[in-house]
Amino acid sequence: MTRQAARPARTIRIVAENSRVAPRPRNFSASPAPSAVASRTPGEPYQAYRPAPFTLAERGQVTLLIGNLHWRVERLFQGVLENMGHRAQILPTATLADLMAGREAADIGQCSPTSFTTGSLANFLRREVQRIGADEVAKQYVYVTAGSCGACRFGQYHQSYELALRNAGLEAFRMFLLGQDGIDQGAAPGGGLELNLPATLGAVWSIVLTDVIQDLEYRVRPYERIAGETDRVVRAAVDDLQRVFRARPQRGGRGLGNALWHLGTGYFVDAMKDVRRRFEDIELDRLRVKPVVKITGEFYLQTVEGEPNHHIHRWLEAEGAEVYPAAITVWLDYLMRLAVQDHEDRIGIRPGARRSAAALRLAQRLLLWTHGRMRKALGGAPRALPQQQELRALAAPWFHSRLNGGEGDMLVGKALWAHLHHKAHMICELSPYSCMPNTMSVGAMAGVLGRHPDLLYAPIEIKGDAEVHALSRCQMVLTEARKRALREYEGVLARIGLTEAQLREIAARHPQLSRATAVIPHHGVTGAAANFALHLASLRDRGGAQSALARA
Ligand code: SF4
Repeated sequence: MTRQAARPARTIRIVAENSRVAPRPRNFSASPAPSAVASRTPGEPYQAYRPAPFTLAERGQVTLLIGNLHWRVERLFQGVLENMGHRAQILPTATLADLMAGREAADIGQCSPTSFTTGSLANFLRREVQRIGADEVAKQYVYVTAGSCGACRFGQYHQSYELALRNAGLEAFRMFLLGQDGIDQGAAPGGGLELNLPATLGAVWSIVLTDVIQDLEYRVRPYERIAGETDRVVRAAVDDLQRVFRARPQRGGRGLGNALWHLGTGYFVDAMKDVRRRFEDIELDRLRVKPVVKITGEFYLQTVEGEPNHHIHRWLEAEGAEVYPAAITVWLDYLMRLAVQDHEDRIGIRPGARRSAAALRLAQRLLLWTHGRMRKALGGAPRALPQQQELRALAAPWFHSRLNGGEGDMLVGKALWAHLHHKAHMICELSPYSCMPNTMSVGAMAGVLGRHPDLLYAPIEIKGDAEVHALSRCQMVLTEARKRALREYEGVLARIGLTEAQLREIAARHPQLSRATAVIPHHGVTGAAANFALHLASLRDRGGAQSALARA
């Protein structure tokens, strides 16, 4: 990891659309809390929102609100914050009611993830205002969120939050923005919140560990013999890991030494070995034929699990599919790739660009190495991540690598990668209503499908009020994916000359293969059942060869 010079945390400086209009409380019985921005008289220039200081003395007294990811990583983030002496609370997963509240409180034309997350915060605070009053809410809570200055609305989320808070009469509420462009952003005003290197590393390790667990979880659940066992194991594993992050030792100071400790320590590896032992008890029937569906799309929609994406993960599983979830680590890797590209473009123009590009490439390698290390600790069964250079090369004919809003060229790259490497029978791309980058990638995919007509692609527009339409569209493509999975499996049986009953006999002689942590090699076909059949056939052949050797 590179170390950047410490600098103050970025705070929110936004001109709201109605900045010249006095804030208008909505739906709140309590009177507005004192504002962090000095009240203005008509004609006085607008003052951008600045959160009131969050002081060191308040640390441990004030609750940091976090959310908008999936529950596993949110739980570990909570552990990281508690480890730093904070109180932290996870916001409930956004609902359709939150979407409507977000549209009403901020901007009706904004992309649906902005509305979901804005509404989720606004509704939570509204409930708390009714319970304890606006002044107490401003005193007791602080919201911490990620932001950027990218090409899409992700750079304006905080503006939506601010507008919603103004409209709700909660101008005194404190929000702090974690920029995605620095790993050590120093202390937020007041020093109560420090976005330093150990905090960032804790967040990155939380992401990597939960990605690895989530991948195994989704590979296991569709094949579990006892329904509900995987969920039980994952819940217990995440509880354990939250304790591990809460008790994370502070070694190596706050700089490079701390990064080296994270990279070299066995602390997280041992924790993942414990998780592996939990998974080992799950018994699977790997000969269930299921289509594999790769989830891609906009970052929030592909990550969250709930109403914002029509519970698509669980819905697909209920429809008989195996879901290949989207790892957040890929997004971190992508952000670093963008930064590398930016520096490479300026070699010879900007001093130090070559060195910065090299340092970031090293950081990318260390990230993937850490991911590989955690996979290994879990027995090697979770999947490896795609290489960014390959994603970029695959997408290049259709999507320029410098178009960097949202997931940029990754949507095209990931769809092709999953298809060409036989990782999935079908791609389900979750496209938010009013999302600029996703609209571009859906357009680019039309060209991709012209060249790869056998790629099964289901772009689903998510706008909150058309669930039946979105899911039925997905179902149509899923029907074809199911047929493909079945054809593939039957083709494999014909190739190896075995029936399913014979395969089950061979499997019974190798009970260790029914364990959730068993590593079944990828034999160049997509489905779990087809790969398992080929693996069992190779064991039979090996067994036959050994018997022949013994007879000789
Ligand atoms: S990627 Fe799309 S949905 Fe996500 S913040 Fe940007 S514009 Fe909105």
